[in-house]
Amino acid sequence: MPTVAIVGRPNVGKSALFNRLAGRRIAIVHDQPGVTRDRISAPCAITQSPCTLIDTGGIGAPLDDGFGEAVTTEADIAMDTADLILFIVDAKDGITAVDQSLAQRLRKSKTKVELVINKADNAEKDLLSGDFATLGYGAGIPVSAELGKNLGKLADAIDATIAPLLADQEEAEEVVQREGLKIAIVGKPNAGKSSIINAILKDERTIVSDIAGTTRDSVDVPYEFLGERHTLIDTAGIRRRTKMDSSVEVFSAHRAERSIRRADICLLVVDLGAGVSAQDRKIARLIQDEKKPCLIVLNKFDLFHPGAARSVRIEEATEHVRKELFFLNYAPFVAVSALKTQAIGLIFQKLTEIRKLAQDPITTGKLNRFLQEAFAKKPPQAKRGSKRLKLLYATTAVNDRYTAIPVPTYILFVNDKRLLQENYEQYLNNRLRESHPTPGIPIIFSTRSRN
Ligand code: GDP
Repeated sequence: MPTVAIVGRPNVGKSALFNRLAGRRIAIVHDQPGVTRDRISAPCAITQSPCTLIDTGGIGAPLDDGFGEAVTTEADIAMDTADLILFIVDAKDGITAVDQSLAQRLRKSKTKVELVINKADNAEKDLLSGDFATLGYGAGIPVSAELGKNLGKLADAIDATIAPLLADQEEAEEVVQREGLKIAIVGKPNAGKSSIINAILKDERTIVSDIAGTTRDSVDVPYEFLGERHTLIDTAGIRRRTKMDSSVEVFSAHRAERSIRRADICLLVVDLGAGVSAQDRKIARLIQDEKKPCLIVLNKFDLFHPGAARSVRIEEATEHVRKELFFLNYAPFVAVSALKTQAIGLIFQKLTEIRKLAQDPITTGKLNRFLQEAFAKKPPQAKRGSKRLKLLYATTAVNDRYTAIPVPTYILFVNDKRLLQENYEQYLNNRLRESHPTPGIPIIFSTRSRN
């Protein structure tokens, strides 16, 4: 959902306006920095197009270093997260030095800025708005949050920016739906990649690429499933010019990397007959480095302790692979036998599940509540002689909303990002995975220092 951020120096009426736009009654308005408001994000109630409001004035712990710093942080957060910034000034005060520096700061970003002149309670005050044009954002829209004046005009202005974004998004989603998933099948030679593709396609088609002299790294195999056209990126097929002779395949990290990069999700095929090898680890690292969604396919399950009970075999197999590929801890498993075409249906079942859960990344509001709890439950340790890590605000950013399986980045705005220790990040990662499971999707935190 598009985001609209409310930015302005203290006391211009940001939270009164926030409440108005969110369709709530105005209670006590605290507009001093550091006064915690009950909520900093809410759905906008007065626009045609759905969008989320963020009141950046409500962000973070009390700031001890003056107004200038506080509004700079707010502006940065807004520029990083919003699709539209409402830059609020005060009709009664006119332009102040802080307004000017804020205007300058906001000019650095590509985000659209709408100037809103609050406290324009009556016509004479409205006239003041002429001065505000010198900020460089047009004449501005005069409103009164307190009296609820001229909010319709503000709503129209928001809609004018948000509606086209939503239309683009819908169109892109349709394309994604039509084109389905791009699925890279990767693994070391002989792991059973081609066999799995054949089993998925359910025919005896040998994946022979007779495109002589081709320079392509992989073969795209179309596969229709439940009305969607998916693409299986077959990294093994290319070598099979003549006969099935797997001995000639030289593992090419480069080839695997390129296929991984253009995929929505990777199927890492592991040969359970042979166990996890250095080559498997290398490919797993590539997937992790590219931050790609992943499903681990435990192939040749028929060869793995065939005498034992299925549940025991699954447990042992997953334990072995989990241990060897521990860094790929977000990837779930399926155990199959391509040769005997056993449990092949589980692959698309799991892919569908991964994709479904990924469509619903944790919202900014929930993320902030979750992190506040996690920080309260286990506060970060301060190294001797240094400050303690403090979280101001967090937001979910999806780099490319238009991919079939979006991978979110959780941006943490903190007092000083050097204070985030690896084990603490791991703690947050584990807690987030428990509280909001998204199997197959890597958890990425990105920290920004306030200063
Ligand atoms: P690729 O190099 O990863 O494409 O591997 P292939 O699909 O060519 O398979 C390599 C060898 O493993 C072939 O001899 C397959 O018959 C065999 N194979 C593939 N899947 C299975 C399986 O599930 N069980 C068993 N026992 N053998 C398999």
